[in-house]
Amino acid sequence: MEETKGNIHPLSRTMDEIVRIFTDMGFEIALGPEMENEYYNFDALNFPKNHPARDMQDTFWLKGVKETVLRTHTSNAQVRFMEKNKPPLRIVVPGKVFRHEATDATHETQFHQIEGLVVGENVTLPNLKATLETFFKKLFGDDVKMRMRPSFFPFVEPGVEIDISCFLCGGSGCSVCKKSGWIEVMGAGMVHPNVLIAGGIDPRKYAGFAFGMGVDRLVMVKYGIEDVRLIYSGDLRLVNQF
Ligand SMILES: [Zn+2]
Repeated sequence: MEETKGNIHPLSRTMDEIVRIFTDMGFEIALGPEMENEYYNFDALNFPKNHPARDMQDTFWLKGVKETVLRTHTSNAQVRFMEKNKPPLRIVVPGKVFRHEATDATHETQFHQIEGLVVGENVTLPNLKATLETFFKKLFGDDVKMRMRPSFFPFVEPGVEIDISCFLCGGSGCSVCKKSGWIEVMGAGMVHPNVLIAGGIDPRKYAGFAFGMGVDRLVMVKYGIEDVRLIYSGDLRLVNQF
């Protein structure tokens, strides 16, 4: 009879690998609750009251529980951690997040994120860039290139979108990177002063950067999985391939 071996799911394996790279770089692991109140998920992160992300079309609101959502990002841990800890802070927050949307090959109602937060004196955008370049080289090898594009998220100012050179075609263009040679992997930026204030940290003395990446997408690209729903299917044919 053939022996049956256990296998670690590619998602768990990638989460572990990413977290290990950051803890090797001196980051601590922090966790936040999956069931979160509106304050830590939105208000404390500088989302205006009328921001579309709060809409019931995008966010799961829990019935009968006032102002409670299934967290839409692991950023909910930022202000919780700042309230309890003094700078310098260096944390990563791995976990599951939820969005209320129709599922298809690239969208699921749950997925995984890893958030990073660094707060200290003299923390700058070049520090963010250097930290992420080091991270991507450790994850994908020395040849990987990274670029930053201006973007907007309520809890950072300035905000940036991070692309890395496609690790399948090396930048020459393929179907995964839609012939562009680049893959969008992360949102990031300098922590907005209002978020530091919400965490009880003086923005005149301290600055910070934050970044957040969707892990499912990295897993799909890395392992050539074409439908995100397969990741959560529990289908052993998927797990046993790797
Ligand atoms: Zn490519």
